[in-house]
Amino acid sequence: MHLILLGAPGAGKGTQGSLLAERLGVPKIATGDILRLAVRAGTDLGLKARSYMDAGELVPDDVILGLVREALRADAARTGAIFDGFPRTVGQARALQEILADEGRALNAVLALEVPADAIVERMSGRRTDPATGEVYHLRHNPPPPAVADRVIQRPDDSVETVRHRLAVYDAMTAPLVEF
Ligand code: ADP
Repeated sequence: MHLILLGAPGAGKGTQGSLLAERLGVPKIATGDILRLAVRAGTDLGLKARSYMDAGELVPDDVILGLVREALRADAARTGAIFDGFPRTVGQARALQEILADEGRALNAVLALEVPADAIVERMSGRRTDPATGEVYHLRHNPPPPAVADRVIQRPDDSVETVRHRLAVYDAMTAPLVEF
């Protein structure tokens, strides 16, 4: 099963992707999560990606394609993957077609999650993450339990201004993928 989740930042790709990965028994490949781990670990990848991420810009395609190839080589991904946050440009989508074709794999479906911009800004301004578990909460809709409430953090790129910029990048670079 190879499935792409397409949708603006905050549309729910991460949440639905985790549920689907569990249901379908294939790993979720979330490029944003992989990048955030690399930033936290201070690896070369993290150093390269950080300034783009903090500014709400896309990380260059060659960097992203390298990490997707590697993630697909993992044993757990032999029978498929749920792609969350990838592909994000037509160039990445074309490259994914080639990567899958080279290995005799095929894409089963693309799910486009459509959410109005106002709802997205509201979701993301209240979004908090538990750095210990990666669990994602929302201050109003899914408040963190008391035991973790003190340690949840806001993603640096979830400030209102950066969210607006990420939405503009989505419209310009990623929305054309629906047509593609
Ligand atoms: P969201 O979907 O909420 O924007 P992600 O965790 O998918 O969040 O991505 C966070 C940031 O990581 C993006 O703003 C971008 O800088 C970078 N990123 C993640 N995936 C990609 C990708 N496929 N191509 C380019 N940049 C990416």
